[in-house]
Amino acid sequence: MELRKPHTLELEAHDALVVVDVQNDFLPGGSLAVPHGEEVVPVLNRYLSAFHSRRLAVYATRDWHPPEHCSFKAQGGIWPPHCVAETPGAQFASDLSLPPETTVISKATELDKDAYSGFEGTDLDARLRDREIKRLFIGGLATDYCVLNTVKDAIRHGYEVLLLEDAIRAVNVNPDDGLKAEETMQGLGARPIHFEILTTRVSPAGSASPEGVEETEEA
Ligand SMILES: [Zn+2]
Repeated sequence: MELRKPHTLELEAHDALVVVDVQNDFLPGGSLAVPHGEEVVPVLNRYLSAFHSRRLAVYATRDWHPPEHCSFKAQGGIWPPHCVAETPGAQFASDLSLPPETTVISKATELDKDAYSGFEGTDLDARLRDREIKRLFIGGLATDYCVLNTVKDAIRHGYEVLLLEDAIRAVNVNPDDGLKAEETMQGLGARPIHFEILTTRVSPAGSASPEGVEETEEA
């Protein structure tokens, strides 16, 4: 498969970072720990800093379940109880440096509905459209569930997606679930990137951007 990997990438006014479900229960010691999940935190912090310093939009999704959520085994679901709203397990990782302006998107908050995608049953799409966001940088946990489904929905809603390949980790119920998920996302048009390709240069006002997106000042 031909991977369309850009060599360098400049952040633009209509970009947003979407951090998916970096919550204690998905990290070591949590009730549904993703193997090596903690490794995404320092990398995401670099992206968060890059977006924050350019005053670009940052969104953080979270599982925010009622105590007897349908996805839990006791209710016939496939997962152990996790990310119950207001509990420590549902908190974002304490060393995740979310800037104060981060918009938090809570999902799967209803008893009888699960949601792997940050778009499902939330106002994420409306919020992104309000800010005229065109391009989403998506990373977090886990590659084969909530990242996969958030990326799928993002593409379906018409966003260009950059997949933060260095800031995702998979559950891998089957050993290659994560790899398959990455292939699926790339097949749909998500471009995998690493932090190192982001240029540090702040583009001067009025300069042409690669996609021809006009840069405008925030009102
Ligand atoms: Zn969940």
